[in-house]
Amino acid sequence: MSLVYEHVSKRYPDGTAALSDISFEVPPGQFCVILGRSGAGKSTLLKCVNGLASPSAGRVVVDDLEVTPKTLRRLQPRIGMIHQSFNLVPRATVATNVISGALPAVSTPRAMLGLFPKTLRDRACALIAEVGLGEEHLRRRVSALSGGQQQRVGIARAFMLDPSYVLADEPVASLDPQTSVDILALIDRQAKVHGAAVLCSLHQIDLTMRFADRVIALRDGQLIFDGAPEALARSG
Ligand code: ADP
Ligand code: ADP
Repeated sequence: MSLVYEHVSKRYPDGTAALSDISFEVPPGQFCVILGRSGAGKSTLLKCVNGLASPSAGRVVVDDLEVTPKTLRRLQPRIGMIHQSFNLVPRATVATNVISGALPAVSTPRAMLGLFPKTLRDRACALIAEVGLGEEHLRRRVSALSGGQQQRVGIARAFMLDPSYVLADEPVASLDPQTSVDILALIDRQAKVHGAAVLCSLHQIDLTMRFADRVIALRDGQLIFDGAPEALARSG
């Protein structure tokens, strides 16, 4: 069981070569940072896992299943997502936002109306407590929360279906430095508690050194480093 990129290239219709022949394999439980400047190809790399982008060449294989339009529905429950600008429903409550993380697996009409089974409501409550939000937050609207609190909601949502992989695209880009550290520590802890591997894109080397088990560095769509953070420090 692992997440594998096999010679993945991506060229957008306008000709931009966003990824060039990228290969690597992420084993279970690893916190893997995708490091690179803006435009390096980090988002595109992550989008090739959840089907928001499709490789022009090569393939992405999740737990022995190639990501294609046909396999996407089967793969979605195994992949949690954490976004740069949180992607929550601001007018909905914390509880509703977290529980919506179960939608890829629960598509009954009742669930569509927001009526989820008690087991899922209980799981959402447990996750909200795990990410450090008190019970008083359950029924608050997300729009009333700070950025750091909103990202805690995003993290709880990502773990609703007990995913094997969590994709986090610049999850701290809109947060201050201390909150960024807190949020990355929380993603790391949740991933280790729930046994998920993380693919987290970042542009900050200091945060990368602090949290990565492994670093994959991109520049202009090319993989320029793949290894332990200590080796990256030595390579300059
Ligand atoms: P990063 O996440 O590292 O900032 P991206 O994956 O967003 O990098 O972008 C990589 C390159 O691909 C950039 O040159 C960007 O402008 C380009 N790009 C991203 N999305 C598209 C798109 N939909 N169409 C054309 N070019 C794109
Ligand atoms: P994020 O920072 O959340 O990745 P971006 O601002 O990079 O968002 O991109 C927003 C959207 O615009 C994405 O869908 C991306 O694919 C697209 N995009 C990014 N760069 C380009 C580009 N050069 N040409 C066309 N679309 C782009």
